Amino acid sequence: TSTRVAVVGAGPAGLAVANILSRKGIDCVLLEEQSRGYIEQRPRAGFIEEWAVRGLEQHGLADRLLGSAPRHGGFEFRFEGARHPFDYAELTGQHHFVYPQQLLVTDLVAQYVDGGGEVAFGVQDVTLHGIESERPAVEYRDGAGERRLECDFVAGCDGAQGVTRTYVGGRVLRHDYGIGWLALLAEAPPSADGVVFGIHPRGFAAHMARTPTVTRFYLQCPPGDDEDNWPHERVWAELHERLGVPGGAIAEGPLIEKRVLDMHNYVTEPMARGRLFLAGESAHLVAPIAAKGLNLALHDAFHLTDAIEAHYSGDDGPLARYTETCLARVWQYQEFSQWLSDIFHSSTTDPPPDPFRARLAQARLRRLLGSRAAAAAFAEIYLGKAADF
Ligand code: FAD
Repeated sequence: TSTRVAVVGAGPAGLAVANILSRKGIDCVLLEEQSRGYIEQRPRAGFIEEWAVRGLEQHGLADRLLGSAPRHGGFEFRFEGARHPFDYAELTGQHHFVYPQQLLVTDLVAQYVDGGGEVAFGVQDVTLHGIESERPAVEYRDGAGERRLECDFVAGCDGAQGVTRTYVGGRVLRHDYGIGWLALLAEAPPSADGVVFGIHPRGFAAHMARTPTVTRFYLQCPPGDDEDNWPHERVWAELHERLGVPGGAIAEGPLIEKRVLDMHNYVTEPMARGRLFLAGESAHLVAPIAAKGLNLALHDAFHLTDAIEAHYSGDDGPLARYTETCLARVWQYQEFSQWLSDIFHSSTTDPPPDPFRARLAQARLRRLLGSRAAAAAFAEIYLGKAADF
């Protein structure tokens, strides 16, 4: 069989690419190793920046999101037992849309399938062939046996654990924070309207609304820590200690997800080789410190689909500039995450602090809360309003 674009991976990047290409009238086939039911249940991100929502809307892919996702325009820092609200909507005129990733994935799968899009779930052993030729191919296995799909382009959207990035070669630039976050989902209503970032000597903690009945929490922990070290009682004791303030109690509930993330970032340079173009976490990962990953996946998808459309109109310039275009925003977000990480993690005593860095982080935080110009600069990049420098 053959198509114009083979899209490997049905996460937010691959689903956005496949939907947008279909809407532009460019044939594609979407290949996903998991089942449809599995990807529609996989909880991960939840905060989508307004420019990304508008990008989806422009392609007719945001109806349910716009109809139901609450908008957030502020968060609060909590430290030294007090609440410090930060209103970024007032500074930028923009919001985050709170929409669990699995709902976005569910919507995008449905829109693609309902529109007659071709997809194979449960594929195995994906290999790429001839990516530097004009007619690459993707080979894989499905229930019926070995398959070969010839195409003009391969979109490598198979995430951090995928295979397509191994075909690019190039360099992988990586940063390890040397800390862990215990990522938790609780069947508990949100305890605050917005995000809460708790900066505490026992370690960082965060609260993020997901739905009226489910809340995400994070607790800083040693990297490589074992989830079994975090029974229900310990989790809630630490969350109350690190996030609780007078008038800001934390609501408890059963923990439905508990996993340790070793915080790290990486960027693959370049993001393309021949007719293979990476999009999303196959190319770059940013630790969930500033909730940027899903947004970057969508950013790549918008640019890749525009560039492929331009190719079929005779202009290969956008494809040639694809890496440069995507990485402009990626590096701004990487830098911001690093900057925010210092504020979140430098003041803790566990692991032991560098007292000098801790004071720098505190100065940074005070400036953010005390200077409108500093706050505006922060808000701009927190929401990604302008980040393609
Ligand atoms: P993925 O979502 O990983 O999708 C890749 C797809 O490819 C998967 O469906 C996978 O099954 C499939 N696949 C893998 N290998 C193969 C193969 N060999 N063949 C075929 N298919 C394959 N980001 C935000 O912006 N905001 C947040 O609030 C946020 N919170 C997060 C919280 C947590 C706990 C985590 C882990 C991440 C969070 N992120 C957040 C990051 C966000 O979830 C990711 O950046 C996003 O999922 C990346 O999308 P993607 O499409 O590139 O990759």
